[in-house]
Amino acid sequence: MKKYRSLLPIDEEGYYGRFGGAYIPEILHSNVRNLREAFYRYVDDEDFQKEFDALMRDYVGRPSPLYRADRLSALYGTNIYLKREDLNHTGAHKINNAIGSALLAKRMGKHRIIAETGAGQHGVATATVCALMGLECVVYMGATDVARQQPNVERMKMLGAKVVPVQSGNKTLKDATNEAIRDWCCNPDSFYIIGSTVGPHPYPEMVAHFQSVISKEIKDQLRSQIGRENPDYVVACVGGGSNAAGAFYHFVNHPEVKLIAAEAAGKGINSGETAATIHAGSEGIIHGARTLVMQTDDGQIVEPYSISAGLDYPGIGPLHAFLATSGRAEVMAVTDAEALDAAMTLTRNEGIIPALESAHALAVLDKKHFREDDIVVINVSGRGDKDMHTYLYSLQYRDVSL
Ligand SMILES: *Cc1c(COP(=O)(O)O)cnc(C)c1O
Repeated sequence: MKKYRSLLPIDEEGYYGRFGGAYIPEILHSNVRNLREAFYRYVDDEDFQKEFDALMRDYVGRPSPLYRADRLSALYGTNIYLKREDLNHTGAHKINNAIGSALLAKRMGKHRIIAETGAGQHGVATATVCALMGLECVVYMGATDVARQQPNVERMKMLGAKVVPVQSGNKTLKDATNEAIRDWCCNPDSFYIIGSTVGPHPYPEMVAHFQSVISKEIKDQLRSQIGRENPDYVVACVGGGSNAAGAFYHFVNHPEVKLIAAEAAGKGINSGETAATIHAGSEGIIHGARTLVMQTDDGQIVEPYSISAGLDYPGIGPLHAFLATSGRAEVMAVTDAEALDAAMTLTRNEGIIPALESAHALAVLDKKHFREDDIVVINVSGRGDKDMHTYLYSLQYRDVSL
């Protein structure tokens, strides 16, 4: 049996440098300890890995293609490869983690799953997996998000999940997360599936592990397509950081592979309407981890803003706080307008409508110069179906003929 060894720079207590850890109330200590023990036990288990791999292949449809985008490459004068997470079942990378986490829940004998969701993508992925495995599913969602993400709410309900609208705070993702944590405190027999590389240790590490299938496939696919497994650049958007963690994972220890994280600048990093946590945040604690947080001088969380609901979070996973502050990853702040333009460019040149989140990663092509012989892999974290309403509404102001 192969012993689990993280490829990420994490210590025993779950810190990446000074970021991470588990800042939780006493009442959650045993829940988190049990989860940590189960994760480290089953992550090494051959049957567990076999079941995970089979579902990735036969249910999710993996490996997702690595597609050389010829017209986009010609347009930008470089070699662009798109990792097509948009082609996964349910339309994004979130299903990878939902399946891994639900398998772990089953091994731990849990029957009730709790999740939080913002745009509804993680809620849909979790509700899907609960239907698949016969688990009870409760999804917390801010009341504002329930109203603006109606199709995903309907999907979750059809899948059998109970969607609980949260009325506190700004009624968005941060408030839904608070409520999910509160539920977990009262119901320690439930399993909490977090949708990103955030939360107390072991969540960031566990979610990164389940998502690492992305970079594992990129390596195999590059090797067979071009005869080298390491690209020059890997680019991904970061909300909490799970698709970026998955796309970076197997390259973190290869400094010749440059990592670029695209965060959501909203209307600009100094506009007061932004979700660019790495540019605009400072060290603090949010949802159980020490990381970078958008906060006032006296530690109140500042409400984030982005056109993309999946990037609209006032924190960032501790791994990315570490990669950014240590200089291992370059972080670019992409505005709403830049993301919309990038979405149009991909759509009209390659016939792929990306999720608004993924469009932030694609916008890096307009902001950074790549060389003619560079190999640039961009993670297309999800598809744009859920964003059609926003696209059509926003593009009419941007000189785009539709
Ligand atoms: C949720 C989501 C994101 C942002 O979450 P990460 O954990 O940062 O990956 C990005 N893209 C899509 C399509 C999403 O649904």
